[in-house]
Amino acid sequence: MQNTSTLVIGAGLTGLSCAYHLQRDYLLLEKENEPGGVVRTRNRHNGFLCDGTGHWLHLRTPVMQRLVQQLLAGQLVEYERKAVIHSHGVFTPYPFQANTYGLPAQVVYECLIGLLKARHPEDFGASHPATAPQNFREWIERYFGEGIAKHFMIPYNEKLLGVDLRELRPEYAERFIPRPSVDDVIKGAVGLSRESLGYNARFVYPREGGISTLPRTLAQALQEAPRFNTAVVQVELGRRVARLADGGQVQFQHLVNTMALPQFVQMISDAPAAVRAAAARLRATTVHYYDLGVRGPGAQASQHHWIYFPEPDFIFYRTGSYSAVHAGAAPDGCRSYYVEMSGGAREWLSEPEKLRARVLADLRKAQVLSERDEIIFMELCRIPHAYVVFDQHYEASRQLILDYLAEHQAQSCGRWGGWNYGGMEDALLEGRRAADQVLNPQ
Ligand SMILES: Cc1cc2nc3c(=O)[nH]c(=O)nc-3n(C[C@H](O)[C@H](O)[C@H](O)COP(=O)(O)OP(=O)(O)OC[C@H]3O[C@@H](n4cnc5c(N)ncnc54)[C@H](O)[C@@H]3O)c2cc1C
Repeated sequence: MQNTSTLVIGAGLTGLSCAYHLQRDYLLLEKENEPGGVVRTRNRHNGFLCDGTGHWLHLRTPVMQRLVQQLLAGQLVEYERKAVIHSHGVFTPYPFQANTYGLPAQVVYECLIGLLKARHPEDFGASHPATAPQNFREWIERYFGEGIAKHFMIPYNEKLLGVDLRELRPEYAERFIPRPSVDDVIKGAVGLSRESLGYNARFVYPREGGISTLPRTLAQALQEAPRFNTAVVQVELGRRVARLADGGQVQFQHLVNTMALPQFVQMISDAPAAVRAAAARLRATTVHYYDLGVRGPGAQASQHHWIYFPEPDFIFYRTGSYSAVHAGAAPDGCRSYYVEMSGGAREWLSEPEKLRARVLADLRKAQVLSERDEIIFMELCRIPHAYVVFDQHYEASRQLILDYLAEHQAQSCGRWGGWNYGGMEDALLEGRRAADQVLNPQ
């Protein structure tokens, strides 16, 4: 039996950050043979660096800007986002609501009049709704208006999440989606583009080695190295003992988990039935994506960083290009892409050949690929809990589990450990917060 003050499960960015900020007296266990979790670069076909769909670093807090700059000094390149939406056969800059110029006049009109009706109903003989929006769909219609809702916000989010937006609570939209101002929407409709607005207008990315460079460097900066190829298979919170796949056991005082919350709860042998039931109510969307390498002349849309596809005629909801951001991500004369699919692709998954043909046909239709591009490889991958579904059970179920864990000096955090929505910076912040909680318990 090994003893540690704090057992950290998982060496993704959350677990690594937790260990980094704890500094000592921890044991960081990772079931894979390298750090990073979802943030991991695969070298495919000798020289195509693929990051498990686009992983671009948007750092908004000074504390994480400092940490990442310090870890990757001289190794970061800053990029200006080149992201567009494909709708009605044209490409408009992201975000949709602030850039409708160029879409068919009827669509622009519907977006503008819809926003004005939603914001100023009294000018159209209606009154402001008496109650707050009850679900995500109502929230969209209330703050974006019917046109933007119909042409982008509803179809895109339903395609991404694979659920009816009426099932989702409005508070989470409130938290994650900024509401557009009438001024921004009008400027965007007449061509005074506000493209550079928004939280992720610029991002940074490592010069070498893909996004894996960040977790690898963080792992190297730890005072006590993670132990790889070591999966935790059972936890007994009452006795504070974890059992490992290799037969070992660890006695801990504090526990910080970063593996997916429902799977973690299943692993707790003494979890009460109510906690198990709460975990069973947590839902998430699975994303399938292709990593794709091509050689050839390309087409009109080959060089965008990423493209959103709200319309059902395209099986994917988003495509992106690793090599359009960072030329070193593909060998000379080649390009590389990720193609993300969710709800709309479900029924195609049982027929991989058909799915592949459909994806290639849609990429050519969207002018991401040209007919003359040669496909070098195409690899289908899966992210099991990519997007948490914020339904009516979410808040109470998650809180019940976290409260139970807190009673046992245990925390569960990170995008999937905390069963939330967040980027790499949030993962780093959550790991730091978890370490703080261990060192300075309230
Ligand atoms: C499609 C998609 C695109 C994204 N794009 C971006 C982006 O552009 N920019 C951005 O900032 N963020 C992006 N993110 C978010 C980013 O991936 C996450 O915020 C981050 O990976 C969360 O890290 P984590 O450490 O919390 O979780 P994970 O990376 O899942 O880490 C958990 C770790 O626990 C390990 N583990 C699991 N079970 C066990 C066990 N039993 N024993 C030991 N170890 C175990 C796993 O192997 C893993 O290493 C994206 C996410 C998705 C799904």
